[in-house]
Amino acid sequence: MDFSLTDEQQRLIELARDFAQREIAPHVADYDREERFPIEIIRAAAELGLMGGVVPTAYGGAGLDFKTYAMLVEEISRVCHVVGVAMSLPSGLVGSSIEVFGTEEQKQRYLAPLARGEVFGAAGVTEARSGTDVSDMDTRCRIDGSDYVINGAKMWISFLDVAKWFLTFAHLGVDERTGRKRVCAFIVDADLPGVSVHPLSNKFGFRPIKTGELVLTDVRVPREALVGEEGRGFAVAMNAVENGRLGVAARATGLAQACVNVMSEYARERVVFRQPLAAFQMVQSMIADASTATEAARLLVLRLADMKDRGLRARAEASAAKQYASDAAMQAALAAFQIHGAYGVSEEYPVGRYMRDAKVFQIVEGNNQLHRALIAESLTGVR
Ligand SMILES: Cc1cc2nc3c(=O)[nH]c(=O)nc-3n(C[C@H](O)[C@H](O)[C@H](O)COP(=O)(O)OP(=O)(O)OC[C@H]3O[C@@H](n4cnc5c(N)ncnc54)[C@H](O)[C@@H]3O)c2cc1C
Repeated sequence: MDFSLTDEQQRLIELARDFAQREIAPHVADYDREERFPIEIIRAAAELGLMGGVVPTAYGGAGLDFKTYAMLVEEISRVCHVVGVAMSLPSGLVGSSIEVFGTEEQKQRYLAPLARGEVFGAAGVTEARSGTDVSDMDTRCRIDGSDYVINGAKMWISFLDVAKWFLTFAHLGVDERTGRKRVCAFIVDADLPGVSVHPLSNKFGFRPIKTGELVLTDVRVPREALVGEEGRGFAVAMNAVENGRLGVAARATGLAQACVNVMSEYARERVVFRQPLAAFQMVQSMIADASTATEAARLLVLRLADMKDRGLRARAEASAAKQYASDAAMQAALAAFQIHGAYGVSEEYPVGRYMRDAKVFQIVEGNNQLHRALIAESLTGVR
């Protein structure tokens, strides 16, 4: 792999770095405490063209390659991964499902405004009972004339306060031949009768994002709301997992790098026993291990992005990048907190937020035990 940056990549990364320092850094602690999604920052990022990711320009996107996209998401996430997740929506599960499986009308109506950063869409996959095992969902749909009627509830769904529509899933019953549920993917407008949202408050991590329950009660949608083929919705969800995992891994790498930066700075400045913390070998060890893990995470992210750019399937590589980067973020956050001593618990420093968010990264987009199982399965062939 060639690690040198093109002039265009260099320009975009500098643009993102400058934007993050100027527009995000002064506010991130406040909107995290207030549990407020910084929509004004997302609008400003959209004006700079930072939201469009890998979505083709014909559908409102920036038409970036995956490597440049991942580098931009990491750069922004060094300051705030919540802005990073907003940047990932068009290129991840939500946008990519429509790009690959959607009709031309769905692409123009839903994907293009999402990629331009004008509206938000959200992914409604997880349910209260079936978490990691998404294909075992309880939400059902039935056919009524030319419509589908959906009943059920999704749990732990993000962007409940800003999403104008949800890419969500329901099943038509069990296929007797395969024994599997006949899952359908739908775009459900948030203002349809029967759609209600119930965000949780005072979450442990990812606080600016309103996450909670999406309830669908007799929600009637036309056939045009179906994404992909009837009964083949699980393929829609699975198609985009590599893109989703790339975005999460890039965000976690950004968070890990932020931890390395703050712990290095603090260790240089804080004097204990008449020497800077950075002179203690056990402190050096924590900094060095966190930094090396962050570098390794970045390389796994870039390898995944490179494979996506070459049109290759990268199931195990996506799991490796997601699992390793989020574990690296957790390791770096714990070290950063430890090095800050008592000051780690103070709001004056960001390490408490970093630690809370790093923990969530180990759970979302497939928990890290699942990813280890997928990597082992790819090596052994045993499920
Ligand atoms: C802040 C936040 C935002 C989220 N946003 C969204 C969203 O926008 N849309 C959406 O659909 N979902 C969202 N989720 C849900 C998230 O993707 C799920 O929480 C996650 O997939 C795990 O599901 P679960 O919590 O039900 O865990 P469970 O499936 O109950 O698993 C619990 C634990 O069991 C272990 N485990 C589970 N399966 C395995 C396995 N196969 N092998 C070994 N160990 C295993 C793991 O340790 C796992 O953490 C969000 C969650 C959070 C916390």
